[in-house]
Amino acid sequence: MKILLASPRGFCAGVNMAIDTLETAIRLYGTPVYVFHEIVHNKHVVDRFERAGAVFVNAVEEVPEGAVLLFSAHGVAPEVRRVSAERRLQAIDATCPLVTKVHLEAIKYAKAGYHIMLIGHEGHDEVIGTMGQAPASITLVEDVDDVDTLPFGPADPLAYLTQTTLSVDDASRIIARLKERFPQIVGPPKDDICYATQNRQEAVRLLSEDADVVLVLGSQNSSNSQRLAELAREQGIRAHLIDGADEIDPAWFTGDETVVITAGASAPESVVQDCLTLLRDRYGATMEERVIREEEVYFPLPKELRAAVQG
Ligand code: SF4
Repeated sequence: MKILLASPRGFCAGVNMAIDTLETAIRLYGTPVYVFHEIVHNKHVVDRFERAGAVFVNAVEEVPEGAVLLFSAHGVAPEVRRVSAERRLQAIDATCPLVTKVHLEAIKYAKAGYHIMLIGHEGHDEVIGTMGQAPASITLVEDVDDVDTLPFGPADPLAYLTQTTLSVDDASRIIARLKERFPQIVGPPKDDICYATQNRQEAVRLLSEDADVVLVLGSQNSSNSQRLAELAREQGIRAHLIDGADEIDPAWFTGDETVVITAGASAPESVVQDCLTLLRDRYGATMEERVIREEEVYFPLPKELRAAVQG
C-alpha cells in the first residue's frame, strides 16, 4: 500500500483562531464557557472542549445571565448578538474573518437595494448567520435547479454571494446559471469560497488522479469535508469520510492500493496520524507527503480577548 498524504489538509486559520479563542477564554474566565453551536464542526474538537468545561448551546436563552458566551467560527446573525446583549452575556466573537467578509458584503448589497442569492446549504450554521444579516433581502439557492424557479425578472437588482465551504465546481455552475438567467446580477470580485476550502479541494483533485481510495478525515456535519469526499467520488474514486482510524473498514482495502489521505479544515492532525499508523501497521504502507500549495494565513484572537490577554 502506498499513502499519498495531501498538503494542505486539516486545520485552517479560522479553525485555529476559534480553538485558540476557546482555550484562552477557559484559561482567563474558568469554566463553564458557553459556546453558541459547535465551535467547529468536528466531533473530536467538540468532545475535547466538553471535557475541558465548555458547554455548547443551540439557543442563547440556554445561557445563564452574565455568563461568557463564545460565537463559533461559523458566525451568527445580529439577532443572536442582540439577545446576548439583552441577557448581559460577555460575548466573545470567534467568527472567522472570511465569514465576516461575506456578512459585510450581504449588508452592503442589501443596503444598496439588491436582492441577494446566497449559494449555500440550508440549515448550515454559516448560512443561518449570513441570512440573518439581511433576512428580507436574501434567498437561498442550493443548486442549479433552484435558479430556474427564482421569481425575479430582468429589471430586478440582484446580487449573489456564496457560503465559504462550497464545492468550487458546484458554485461555478450555479453562478454561471444565475448569470445566464439574470445578466444584470452582480457579485463580489472573487467568489467567497475561502482559500482553505479551495486549496484542500485542489489537492484532492490533483492527488486523486493517482489514487484508488481517498480517506477524508472529518465529521459528517463538516461541509468542507463532505465536499472533499464528493470531489473524489466525482472522479470515480472510492472515498470515505471518517472521524478517525477506528472507522476504517478492512473491507475497503486489499493492501496494494494507493490511498490519498486528507482532512477537512476542522479535523485535527492527530486523527490523520492515527490513520497513518494503522495503515502502516496493518498493510506495511509507505507514505509520501505531496505539497500542492503552501499556506501562511493567520488570524489573531478576537479583540475582546486580545485586550484581556494583554491586560
Ligand atoms: S474553512 Fe475557511 S471560512 Fe471556514 S473557518 Fe476555515 S478559513 Fe474560515
